[in-house]
Amino acid sequence: GNRLSGKRALVTAAAQGIGRASALAMAREGAQVFATDVNMDALATLEDANIDVFELNAMDAQSVNAGVARANPDILFNCAGFVHSGSILDAEEDEFEFAMDLNVRSMMRTIKAALPAMLERGTGSIINMSSAAGSVIGAPNRFIYGTSKAAVVGLTKSVAADYVAQGIRCNCICPGTVESPSWHDRVTALGEQLGSRDEALAQFVARQPMGRVASAEEIAALVVYLASDESAFTTGHPHVIDGGWSGQ
Ligand code: NAD
Repeated sequence: GNRLSGKRALVTAAAQGIGRASALAMAREGAQVFATDVNMDALATLEDANIDVFELNAMDAQSVNAGVARANPDILFNCAGFVHSGSILDAEEDEFEFAMDLNVRSMMRTIKAALPAMLERGTGSIINMSSAAGSVIGAPNRFIYGTSKAAVVGLTKSVAADYVAQGIRCNCICPGTVESPSWHDRVTALGEQLGSRDEALAQFVARQPMGRVASAEEIAALVVYLASDESAFTTGHPHVIDGGWSGQ
């Protein structure tokens, strides 16, 4: 396809899961993709004719500034994030700080770095990774995670509002449960708690009225749409893609 031809796309957390699927999907649509992560072994396997790979630590301003300068993106997909489990009574200060840094503040860093050149060109699409668990649904045992992902919605709306008249769009995506390496780890961890991995899997699947979790490719299709000019009339919104979880 050529839905993104002529565009430069920077993706954080592109080594695996949704970031990886999105980097591949955007490259297939003709974008020049800059796929970044801190896991260089996994990232290296992505390198291709129109996919450049390099290290970018979303928690480090210097690393972000250098990476954004190198990519000079028209499309910025902020995908990096971490899922803490537990209620407010389980939450530790350092875990909360880590989540707010990786899941939210990282987006302030990348957007601050990428926005000036986007404004100069008068065009840009920023896509932030939120989650259905957060402002859309209060998911059990996701206090830190849901708090941080709800903050992403506020950050997204603020950026959208400030630059809507200057050609910049900023949206976020709110997936339900998506198959990825870290999701498999969460199933395993819950399985150890429950004494049965099958029971853990059944609990995750039961949240999705469709009776299954999403593939990373299904989320990547929404990322491609938001990155492309097809979505030119949408900005400032959480785009929910959750297998019917919140739609009942
Ligand atoms: P994942 O969790 O399996 O992979 C995360 C990637 O982030 C890894 O490659 C890791 O190396 C990278 N990473 C970690 N720290 C980083 C840092 N400081 N800088 C740059 N990269 C870093 O992938 P996933 O499950 O597809 O999750 C991706 C995003 O999607 C996350 O923000 C997650 O919260 C969100 N999300 C996931 C689901 C799900 O069910 N999997 C649902 C909704 C939202």
